[in-house]
Amino acid sequence: MPEVITAKTDAPKPLVSLTEDEQLFRDNIRQFADEAVRPHVKEMDEKGIFEHSLIEQFFQLGIMGIETPEQYGGGGGTFFEAILAVEELSRVDASAGVVVDVQNTLVNNAFIRWGTEAQKKKYLAKLAADTVGAYALSEAGSGSDAFALSTKAELKGTDYVLNGRKLWITNGKEAGVFVLFATLDASAGYKGITAFVVEKDFPGFTVGKKEDKLGIRASSTCELILEDCKVPKENVLGEPGKGYKIAIETLNEGRIGIGAQMLGVARGAWEFAVKYAQERKQFGQAISNFQGIQFQIAQMATEIEAVRMMVYNAARMKDAGMNFVKEAAMTKLFASQVAERVTSLSLEIYGGYGFTKDYPVEKYFRDSKIGKIYEGTSNMQLSTIAKLVMGGK
Ligand SMILES: Cc1cc2nc3c(=O)[nH]c(=O)nc-3n(C[C@H](O)[C@H](O)[C@H](O)COP(=O)(O)OP(=O)(O)OC[C@H]3O[C@@H](n4cnc5c(N)ncnc54)[C@H](O)[C@@H]3O)c2cc1C
Repeated sequence: MPEVITAKTDAPKPLVSLTEDEQLFRDNIRQFADEAVRPHVKEMDEKGIFEHSLIEQFFQLGIMGIETPEQYGGGGGTFFEAILAVEELSRVDASAGVVVDVQNTLVNNAFIRWGTEAQKKKYLAKLAADTVGAYALSEAGSGSDAFALSTKAELKGTDYVLNGRKLWITNGKEAGVFVLFATLDASAGYKGITAFVVEKDFPGFTVGKKEDKLGIRASSTCELILEDCKVPKENVLGEPGKGYKIAIETLNEGRIGIGAQMLGVARGAWEFAVKYAQERKQFGQAISNFQGIQFQIAQMATEIEAVRMMVYNAARMKDAGMNFVKEAAMTKLFASQVAERVTSLSLEIYGGYGFTKDYPVEKYFRDSKIGKIYEGTSNMQLSTIAKLVMGGK
């Protein structure tokens, strides 16, 4: 007789279990990604331009303000839901994934946590309704060493005057609102860093060159130029000199988003590889009959499952109010490694065809590479993890 196991109602839920609402939410985004995003993917990648009508649909779907409280026009949802959206969009297109990721995990998040009531009313509402946001920390000379930034802010009367240049800013071309970091006093090191809310139309602000990239080509990555850019005093986000805290804490959450993006990328490539292996015939049979191919598919599935658990667990920890810094760094580190391996192997399963632009897998391979670079390189994640685990955390 098989043993009957009755679930204890108070037992912790498996890491991969979703509530009914979460399942519905995920299925909606999955369907939207397949039906609305997928037809644009190839052309967006070739042209390096994000299809504008998709951004409008993101707003209509409510995925540009997932966690934003309902009183500001958002969905009042969870961080976990934002993570599901990024995963499902990235399964189809990593550029779509990062547009939604930056909006939710970095920009909205910064306003929700540090915005004044007036800033929330003004900006969170726009960001949920029709305005794309961007997060501008990096500069030509300061990437991993982000707080060595040199964009200066000086208080003159009722305005701050900002001068400098930002580099690599995701959503730069589409954004109307920028959370932008500058220093009030470079000699004070990280203690001079201040977060400002800059609108696209502020005098002295221009969007510069857009990068021509290996992957996530449709996602715009731009230089920002600030020449005596006037920012009203009330547009300081948080307190003057506390921008470093905003940057560190938003990026901690953002890293789980990049983990979700890489999870989606790995899943998307893997699904194509499995289908192709079952269709492609060599030696008179489908190549999926060969154990060599089966083992590769199984290994990839196992690694994807491990990543899924890490991403979901880190997101649940965040929603539960637990300290998730180590888990977020581990998630981004591992997810980007797995995405690179899985997309590379998926390409190999396609053989020569995988190496061409006629098939979708080479794009997944190119898109995977960014996971090891932005929101802190893999070395920076390892450095965070090492500090925490060696400090006994
Ligand atoms: C497509 C794209 C989108 C981006 N979007 C944004 C955005 O929206 N907003 C934003 O602010 N930034 C963005 N960035 C910038 C990104 O976060 C930086 O590129 C990243 O942090 C790395 O900085 P860097 O390029 O200056 O490299 P560097 O910091 O110069 O690093 C070069 C190499 O040195 C290694 N290294 C550096 N310091 C150490 C150390 N202490 N120990 C060991 N190794 C080290 C790094 O791991 C790396 O391998 C984006 C970048 C790209 C490519």
